[in-house]
Amino acid sequence: VTHLDALLAGNARFAATDLRERGPAIPFVPNRQLYLVTCIDPRVDPAAVFGLELGDAIVARTVGGRVTDDVLDDLAWIGHLHAVVTPDAPWFAVAVVHHTGCGSALMADDALRSGFLARGARPGWTDARLRATAVTDPHATAAADAARLRAAGVVPGHVAVGGFVHDLATGVVTPVAPDPGPAGR
Ligand SMILES: [Zn+2]
Repeated sequence: VTHLDALLAGNARFAATDLRERGPAIPFVPNRQLYLVTCIDPRVDPAAVFGLELGDAIVARTVGGRVTDDVLDDLAWIGHLHAVVTPDAPWFAVAVVHHTGCGSALMADDALRSGFLARGARPGWTDARLRATAVTDPHATAAADAARLRAAGVVPGHVAVGGFVHDLATGVVTPVAPDPGPAGR
């Protein structure tokens, strides 16, 4: 059995249940009104970390959980849909979650970066960009990325936007400044 065979076997078990019926009627209005930005690291799978089930949240996963231009573009689009298609639906809250021990910290390694770029990376991948992606201080980057998302104006000002740090050692996720405000707690 290959890894991909096992993947489809897992799907067969899912499809044999009625779990799919948990999905929200409108895909951009998730059941728990959450829009998460978190790392691709398998140790921070938000379904497990936050007890989320199918349909509960929109989840964007990037290296380090960094708020990239693509993340902002997607969020702007979803925000547009909310405003135009479902103006009466409650808005989601946005959580930017970075974590301790993040593998993206390897992007701070000069030799790894230069070797990667020497392979012929895609246009746009520059040494400076790679270096800036590294999460070496998750408190600082989570706060900075939450602020960047807020400043980008892709969601209305009343939408709660919070930065959070997930401590892999304890499993505990804590907010960082700026505070998400009453609506985000
Ligand atoms: Zn990570």
